[in-house]
Amino acid sequence: MTFFVHSHNKTTPYVTSTVIGMTTSASVPTEPEGAIVTSGTVTDRLVDANHLYADAFTDPGMDARPVLHVAVVACMDARLDLHAALGLALGDCHTIRNAGGVVTDDVIRSLTISQRALGTRSVVLIHHTGCGLESLTEEFRHDLEMEVGQRPAWAVESFRDVDQDVRQSMQRVRTSPFLLHTDDVRGFVFDVKTGLLREIDPA
Ligand SMILES: [Zn+2]
Repeated sequence: MTFFVHSHNKTTPYVTSTVIGMTTSASVPTEPEGAIVTSGTVTDRLVDANHLYADAFTDPGMDARPVLHVAVVACMDARLDLHAALGLALGDCHTIRNAGGVVTDDVIRSLTISQRALGTRSVVLIHHTGCGLESLTEEFRHDLEMEVGQRPAWAVESFRDVDQDVRQSMQRVRTSPFLLHTDDVRGFVFDVKTGLLREIDPA
């Protein structure tokens, strides 16, 4: 079995976010001090943690409609713990995440289903400081094409100014013809150093 255990609560499985940081390697990164060290890939570790989770799990008896009627669109960044940062509990919201928290056609697809089939009414957009998309350019697509012989159909959606990118993301949501509710759309930048959200004026 591969897992971490809180020193103050021996029954709670706990996988540190630093350990499950994105990597293309199948090997498990170096263990932090005090961790229980075992072998296996990172996915094995997650599966082991799931066994412990399921052991303590009881069916909350919820349906699929988010309790707070809100959908959160955010960057996939590993430093952004959406539920903790926003005080969210299981069942409260839809979370839609991708590189940058960009409002792509597929995000509009998810928001459309979220609103029309599952009853959400509010949309919260969250970008963050130090986003990887600030250091990329659309040249990324060109470089990909040179390497693999095929240009990706998608835009990189890189940006220089995070505030402006949040504004245009809000605009994409507000002007979507597919959404039922576009009156409560708010955008924020999460500071990965302080944990604070800063709201972006849509104007
Ligand atoms: Zn990011």
